[in-house]
Amino acid sequence: MKQIIKDVLDDMSESQINLGSETARKTISNLITVALKSKGVYSEYGDTELEEQRARESWVCEICGESTYEVEYDYIGSGTNHLGCELKSQEDIDEYIEDIDEQAYAQGRGSSYISSPHYSKGNEKRKIKNEK
Ligand SMILES: [Zn+2]
Repeated sequence: MKQIIKDVLDDMSESQINLGSETARKTISNLITVALKSKGVYSEYGDTELEEQRARESWVCEICGESTYEVEYDYIGSGTNHLGCELKSQEDIDEYIEDIDEQAYAQGRGSSYISSPHYSKGNEKRKIKNEK
């Protein structure tokens, strides 16, 4: 693999490529990628990229639906949610539970119990609220 990369660099040694330029570096990585692909040694990298892609896809805030892949760990709540969104949604959930409790109380059923804080994800909750 080293040889393949070196071949690509050798090819480019004639041209006055400036490694300080972002475009030049992109061009070089593209050329190396193409060379590796054509020599059939690219799979290792493909997997890494796929893994990163999957990781990115799995790092999504359930509350706002935005990617949290690049969010600093300090700002992540439980799972892959934004801490901020979670705090916000916990307030919403508390409000919602209060609403339910009031309704239940009005109907004489006593207090309701919601087992999981994930019971009400943003959209479901909004739907329920709108149906009222
Ligand atoms: Zn969020």
